[in-house]
Amino acid sequence: MFELRSLSRNAINIPESGTLKILEISKNMERKGINVIHLDVGEPMFDTPNEIKKAAIDALNKGLTKYTPSKGIYELRKAILDTYNQKYKLSLNPNKNIIITPGAKFSVFSALLSIVSEGDEVVILTPTWVSYWAPIKYIGGKIVEVDVMNENSDYEEKLKSFISKKTKVLIVNTPNNPTGKVLEKHELKIIRDLSEDYDFYVLVDEIYSFLTYDSEFHSILEFNEIMDRVVIIDGFSKKYAMTGWRLGYAIGPQEIINLMNKIQQAATTSPTSFVQYAALVVFEYKEKINRKINLMKETFKENRDLAVKLLSEIDNISFNIPQGAFYIFPDISRYYKDSKKFTIDLLEKKHVSVTPGVAFGRGGEGHIRISFSASREALTKGISLIKEFLVGGK
Ligand code: PMP
Ligand code: GLU
Repeated sequence: MFELRSLSRNAINIPESGTLKILEISKNMERKGINVIHLDVGEPMFDTPNEIKKAAIDALNKGLTKYTPSKGIYELRKAILDTYNQKYKLSLNPNKNIIITPGAKFSVFSALLSIVSEGDEVVILTPTWVSYWAPIKYIGGKIVEVDVMNENSDYEEKLKSFISKKTKVLIVNTPNNPTGKVLEKHELKIIRDLSEDYDFYVLVDEIYSFLTYDSEFHSILEFNEIMDRVVIIDGFSKKYAMTGWRLGYAIGPQEIINLMNKIQQAATTSPTSFVQYAALVVFEYKEKINRKINLMKETFKENRDLAVKLLSEIDNISFNIPQGAFYIFPDISRYYKDSKKFTIDLLEKKHVSVTPGVAFGRGGEGHIRISFSASREALTKGISLIKEFLVGGK
């Protein structure tokens, strides 16, 4: 029989996305006619605001259907940076310091491909979103996980014990997927100070910055002088309920943005034209759209409170109350040590889909991620089935 020659070692090294994997399994069950309660993938349960949809249709009708500059249309780059410049008193330049990408995920990917070389050390503060691992594994970088959830030592000491002159970049996500932790200003200052002392870059994924509950969001950009070593990741997916539109961006030093642009030219040419024009209305009708976002936020808060209440009623599990984003990350290890096995068993027996904690880093083992971006009914039913499964003898 014909045997394939060996394929790319680098591509083989990429781990499968733990979040998308479970979604695929549960969608396959649905195709077989099984009703699944989805508390798995992280996307807003709302529809994209009408103003944005209409603007996309208008852009299509106007023939805005051609390639755009590879970094994205100037108007959108400028509108985004105007907001940052005003908020953080910066002077970021739309021609130099920003690139629009097809989803924030591609910003993460091309930023890491631009910063990290084979053998470089990358520090990831975990548990955290699954897709930071893939580009580093692809490159052959060395991943150093710092479990900031489970270790009790002081934040600075904890980081210091993993950081060295070999550290090339530190990755942090705030508000955090999956724990909901929002970094405090003093924690960001520690990261800033260490990045100066040890001369490393910092990639801060702020995609949930719009969604905090009882605590205030702080950006590392509040420390202006860090701008030459920080890349900020954000996008339209979560805030404007636009996950399928694929629109994100990265803000950073010109040298990094230039490399990201070369990668984008090679990989995708540019983000989709009419999607970029549609996103412009977010700035044009700022107040109107922000009112809608505020209503979505209220619903997320109600869901957060509901999830906390329902999970509190389950014996022998523990969790931190999420301060931001739309996930909760209970420790179920007194029942199940193996979170992947739990997730598959729960899906097969109770038809509830959640994400295994181990997908978010070693420290996530023994946990599950529940996305509370779901209807109240689905959330209530889903958590009651989880309880039944855990406590009621499976
Ligand atoms: N960062 C985090 C922390 C996320 O949870 C997600 C969700 N997919 C992303 C980035 C990527 O978002 P997108 O590619 O849809 O813009
Ligand atoms: N970020 C979402 C999640 O964590 C979407 C899936 C993905 O791209 O990872 O579920």
